[in-house]
Amino acid sequence: MPPPLLLSAPTRVIRDAARAVKRKVNLMIERVTAGTLSALLGLPGLVVTEYALEPRAGERDVLHLFCQHEHEVAICPVCGQVSSAVHDSTERCLRHLEIWGKVTFVHFPARRFDCGHCHQPFREELSWIESQRRESTAYELQVHEQCQHTTQAAQ
Ligand SMILES: [Zn+2]
Repeated sequence: MPPPLLLSAPTRVIRDAARAVKRKVNLMIERVTAGTLSALLGLPGLVVTEYALEPRAGERDVLHLFCQHEHEVAICPVCGQVSSAVHDSTERCLRHLEIWGKVTFVHFPARRFDCGHCHQPFREELSWIESQRRESTAYELQVHEQCQHTTQAAQ
């Protein structure tokens, strides 16, 4: 079995967090709502609508989050015009940061829009994924940092 990607947080961090909750200092306590999961997901513009938990024997469970777009429009990268005309849409799946130790995949429709000005279809730009990647930028950064940490520890 591969080692867990996330190292457990240092004890000091946990102690500090516990103290902060006790003091309620500098902490905005929020009510949990239907939008909480989407907000915590950290992928702006996506709304989590469904989920599935996939148990795997001998391995970490997989959490699938099925999302829709918050906005029904996109901006043409060529001319800057807003379009609501969806040219086509395909389901896309990307790996994202683990949630509570579960390998997490985010499913969402990858849309192309028609620009009424350029008369060319364009793919909407999403700030949290590089084109053609299968991982979110946040996940890639975490893996990168983890590699550096491991390399430093080995030296
Ligand atoms: Zn355009």
